Amino acid sequence: MFSEHATRMTRQRKAILETLRSTKSHPTADWIYEQVRHQIPDISLGTVYRNLKLLKEQGEILELNYGSTFSRYDGNAANHYHFRCEECGRVFDVDLPVSCALEHELEAKTGFEVHSHRLEFYGLCSGCRRKRESALGAAGAQAAVNQAQSQEAAQEYAHGEQAGQPSHLALENQGAHGPRH
Ligand code: ZN
Ligand code: MN
Repeated sequence: MFSEHATRMTRQRKAILETLRSTKSHPTADWIYEQVRHQIPDISLGTVYRNLKLLKEQGEILELNYGSTFSRYDGNAANHYHFRCEECGRVFDVDLPVSCALEHELEAKTGFEVHSHRLEFYGLCSGCRRKRESALGAAGAQAAVNQAQSQEAAQEYAHGEQAGQPSHLALENQGAHGPRH
């Protein structure tokens, strides 16, 4: 028989797991806590952490650890690769096959028995990339305007120097008539 306490524990864990599986965003424990509180208002952050640890040990979820920042959790426990945006911090699933060849290669090289591996890619997500490129584009356009203005000023100066000499247009016209004679 389940005690009332055990039933409550089960209900909490189920709510945490369902919340995590309902998103593709690889959330932090804090985010999960805020969501689960809508269903279970008196749940504590400590309970969320405890249950996440338990679910991880049971192989139901993955914990993604990014060094100094908070761990993120993944409701999909099957091995798959991730991409982390260095600008906005979002973590995306990567649609690439998990490479058994990599594990076999390491086994062959070392004599180790390889059970699994994790692979993470880092860079800019498409949204952040677009933002950066349009910022660079705006800076580039301004630089082009500045350059055009300084060229104009230089040309005005040159025209002043060459006053009285034949223009480029006149020289070109003479050249164009050349072959006819
Ligand atoms: Zn991003
Ligand atoms: Mn994932």
